[in-house]
Amino acid sequence: MDTHLFDHRTSSDGSDAQPVNWELAVASMESVLSQSTAHRKTRLVDLLVQAEHMLMDARRIRQPQLANALDRLLHAIQQELIAPAEDFSRLIRLIRHIDRIIKNMLLISQRDALPVALIIGTQEPSDVLRDALSRAGFAPRTINALAVDHAKIKVLAAEAELIMLLVQGDESVASLDIPFELIENELRHKTSLLISSKDSFQIRAAAAKAGVSHFLTEPLDVSRLNTLLQSSRILDEDDKPLKVLMVDDMVTAGVYWGKHFQKQNINFRFESKPEHAYRSAVEMQPDIILLDLYMPDIDGIDLAKIFREHPRLRDVPILFMSTEENDRRRMNAKIQGGDDFLNKTIAIDDLLKMVRYRALRYRQSMAEKRSDSLTGLLNHNAIKDLVEAEIDRANRQNQQLSVVLIDIDHFKNVNDTYGHQAGDIVIRKLSNLLNTRLRRYDGVGRYGGEEFMVTLPNTDEQTAAHLINRLRVQFGQSGTLTENGSNLFCTFSAGIASFPRFLDLTSLIEAADQHLYVAKANGRNRVVCSEEALGASPDKSD
Ligand code: GH3
Ligand code: MG
Ligand code: MG
Repeated sequence: MDTHLFDHRTSSDGSDAQPVNWELAVASMESVLSQSTAHRKTRLVDLLVQAEHMLMDARRIRQPQLANALDRLLHAIQQELIAPAEDFSRLIRLIRHIDRIIKNMLLISQRDALPVALIIGTQEPSDVLRDALSRAGFAPRTINALAVDHAKIKVLAAEAELIMLLVQGDESVASLDIPFELIENELRHKTSLLISSKDSFQIRAAAAKAGVSHFLTEPLDVSRLNTLLQSSRILDEDDKPLKVLMVDDMVTAGVYWGKHFQKQNINFRFESKPEHAYRSAVEMQPDIILLDLYMPDIDGIDLAKIFREHPRLRDVPILFMSTEENDRRRMNAKIQGGDDFLNKTIAIDDLLKMVRYRALRYRQSMAEKRSDSLTGLLNHNAIKDLVEAEIDRANRQNQQLSVVLIDIDHFKNVNDTYGHQAGDIVIRKLSNLLNTRLRRYDGVGRYGGEEFMVTLPNTDEQTAAHLINRLRVQFGQSGTLTENGSNLFCTFSAGIASFPRFLDLTSLIEAADQHLYVAKANGRNRVVCSEEALGASPDKSD
């Protein structure tokens, strides 16, 4: 057996075993059976151990279909141990079945290893918090700040992508349970949230000083929490480096600064001609603009005014750069829409820090503006913007793009029968499913009340239909527990349209809507796209 696949070493806090590498795992199951040199019983026992480990992990990452199949395999192996059959054909069939499930699972979710949110506090996080974390795609790991060795906290914090501090009571800063200094470096470089049971200025100040990104108080404002968590995922994406535009009439300045920015993995663009700078800015949508205050044809202040006229550039931070020492000019630059003034002699490290900080804050606030408060998904305008951007990209890269409209069936009945709150839970449930089961570069938005929009780049209509159909089956099978204890099951209908069959935003959405209408008219709980062959009726296969 390939022991490296199923390493039983526990991770540093002793809480959970190493996650399974699914692709390797299933391949190795088949090879165990074909090892003709090993004793039959040895092979079966090896397989049993593997399957058990996979089953545990399938449950951990909440893949019920996979867990079921593995469970069946376990029974079959046990059966085989008791009463051997002619050959392993039944086991091999089951393994192939599992292989297919895993391939599907990897296709729709490339996040088999979720980013970890480290929760530090003296008591267990609430369900609300756990729920919000899982919705945003984080695997929570809880540690008790008092019970765990400080060195260990440091290690765990270094491994985590998000740090969450839970503060109890109104103790003075000195007696806080949280070892701020210990994880200071992590707090400064990662998204961190401090959740306090009480709002006190001392705690706020300590948090701010320590570099904590956000401060929240109990009772939690869930929609803000969702938004913060979702946008922290946006910031964490490595494939979206910060974008900086610099405008200066001295070409050598661009060469000099460009070298430093690129070293920091920042997407840096330089323009020496103001008239090109405007077009560049609109096209690039930078996270921050550095403007030379004095240029021959137009000064930085006037150029900033022009930038600000464009809706996409209205709020982007602008830093004016100059060697001008005159305070009045500085003030002038500030009040006319520029956000700050920098002396060109600033140390490179300071400039980089400042740029990064401001650009990140801008991204964060844009992300908050673009997100839906109930689900944390993109809101109506944001998902439409995304479709537009994806059309551009598909056009440039000569790829297909599928757009999906999803609408929950008979949702009015859900509200009428179980209440609005149960309705909200169903909406969040679907949002969670879409958010966690689709690929990282797919877009998910709440288009309206119980209507969702999904963008699937580089995906043709057929593939999209298969994918959404699988989600449809999954959604239909997972019930929601209502207040009176009964299980509530909902279904959805979906319409799909694709680029380049439809070339622009309006016609794509119209076509998807048309297909959604057909799905509703034909009895709901189905996915409809242009290829009639895929107007799938409820799919009973697994
Ligand atoms: P169909 O199968 O044709 O889609 O029927 P439907 O009842 O789902 O469609 P309809 O558009 O008639 O009703 C949608 C309902 O969704 C009406 C509205 O009260 C409800 N709704 C919209 N937004 C929310 C929300 O945020 N929370 C809850 N609980 N309900 C919402
Ligand atoms: Mg509707
Ligand atoms: Mg509906």
